Amino acid sequence: MPAAVEFRDVCRFFGTVRAVDRVSMEIAEGEFFAMLGPSGSGKTTCLRLIAGFEQPTHGAVRIFGQDMTGVPPYRRAVNTVFQDYALFPHLNVLDNVAYGLMVAGRGRAERRREAEAALELVQLPGYGARRPGELSGGQRQRVALARALVMKPRVLLLDETLGALDLKLREQMQEELKALQRKVGITFVFVTHDQGEALSMADRIAVFNEGRIEQIGTPEEVYNRPAKPFVADFVGSSNVLPPEVTFAVAGRRAWASLRPEAIRLVGGGRPARVLATAFLGASTRLHLEMAGLDITMLLPRGAQVPQPGETVSIGWADGDLHLMESA
Ligand code: ATP
Repeated sequence: MPAAVEFRDVCRFFGTVRAVDRVSMEIAEGEFFAMLGPSGSGKTTCLRLIAGFEQPTHGAVRIFGQDMTGVPPYRRAVNTVFQDYALFPHLNVLDNVAYGLMVAGRGRAERRREAEAALELVQLPGYGARRPGELSGGQRQRVALARALVMKPRVLLLDETLGALDLKLREQMQEELKALQRKVGITFVFVTHDQGEALSMADRIAVFNEGRIEQIGTPEEVYNRPAKPFVADFVGSSNVLPPEVTFAVAGRRAWASLRPEAIRLVGGGRPARVLATAFLGASTRLHLEMAGLDITMLLPRGAQVPQPGETVSIGWADGDLHLMESA
């Protein structure tokens, strides 16, 4: 079975800017795939290459095995949900959702039936007569989803879709989006710079940096076994130990990552000086200096918090120091 989306050595350059630089990946049918990376790392350009709003400078994009070179957006089995929702303010919700069906020349009764079914799917039954201005941010987001799903794409592209929502609503929508994807069973490709969002929703994550993919893996893989220092740092703000420090603490000369939550205050451990502390609610973050290196650790709630300037003794389980293949 061909991949839903395949990139083979894809580049997209804008003048001297290498927005996407030799990216190869395969996204399986039915997968929830996240493209994660900092601003400017090339994720949105990859999404636009799938949608057909951009053409590769080099390489090929295939959708279900078909080469997409020269195929315009409306001829691709994909649909995009944009961050700003792009709803028509003067149309009611039902007409917004049915808009694509109208453009495609479908009859009135069918449009209504399909749009109502899509609104049901996103848990907004009975909202058809409202205008976008009468909806909350989360509801507008759902309408935008319904409008994309009503066209029955085989691949749904989501561009920082939850970015405009407040934290609580965003977490709720993350769960809903995941449940929705399972229900409709189509491929979701999701762009985000929020590692928590990618970890909580995706089956697999591609971590982008400067137009390239640093690692592709399941959330557990990229979090627990980052391939490179960039991934360790970006996904979960790990402590990254250069080879000489790893050698000093573990006798191996390699880059290593150590999760803040894996570090404990223990008797007879390694000395570290407390630089700063920050109360986070569920935990307290300690900023430490150990062997000339800045280290972050999380102290569980209820533990005694040391003061800046104090020297503490820290340790971790051997298995928590993860050695990486390269810089
Ligand atoms: P963000 O999260 O900020 O959207 P991103 O990871 O999605 O970032 P892209 O939008 O793909 O990154 O941009 C990658 C690089 O390509 C950036 O340096 C950007 O300025 C550049 N770029 C993107 N589109 C164009 C364009 N049409 N013309 C020129 N440069 C562009």
